[in-house]
Amino acid sequence: MARIIFLGAPGAGKGTQAKVLADSQGIPHISTGDILRSAVANETPLGVQAKSYMDAGDLVPDKLVIDLIRERLQESDAETGWILDGFPRNVEQAGFLDCLLGEMGQDCDHTINLDVPDDVVVSRLVQRGVESGRSDDNEETIRRRLEVYREKTEPLINYYTEQGKLTTVNGDQELEAVTADLQAIVK
Ligand code: AMP
Repeated sequence: MARIIFLGAPGAGKGTQAKVLADSQGIPHISTGDILRSAVANETPLGVQAKSYMDAGDLVPDKLVIDLIRERLQESDAETGWILDGFPRNVEQAGFLDCLLGEMGQDCDHTINLDVPDDVVVSRLVQRGVESGRSDDNEETIRRRLEVYREKTEPLINYYTEQGKLTTVNGDQELEAVTADLQAIVK
């Protein structure tokens, strides 16, 4: 049983590694990006509101993702553990999560920062755009997403370091080596 937050730039490998770890731990992988993309594809009210922000590479408004996470963490499969991938994305969301977990009598066990150099991140994202056709993996949006990451999300590294909860893992290794490092932390 584990409750894990994944931090890292877009393209750091959070989604890939979170899936592997979630399977091996038997806990849900909760990706706000995946949930939002599916809402956009299904043209739900959430998707309609989120689409323009996502296409621009900006964060969608906190209210939307906060409501989404509150509901998702209260589902029965999340009772014994979870991996959050892509949430929190700014200090406000992190503060909300602290409160929500407090209300639910839960605490996060590990906050893991997947660290990958900028040039590696950009080339991975460009490659993913070619392979997956993800509409926000084009060069202009990638640049914007990295800016947003630096401005809004990177401060969370300090936030969780101050809480004594941050572990940094070198994400610039073979996929299996990163997984092994993560398994050693989570056990
Ligand atoms: P991701 O798949 O995590 O890279 O997310 C793709 C896009 O979804 C981001 O560029 C944002 O537009 C949006 N998004 C995902 N998670 C969040 C979040 N926690 N807060 C705001 N926007 C988010």
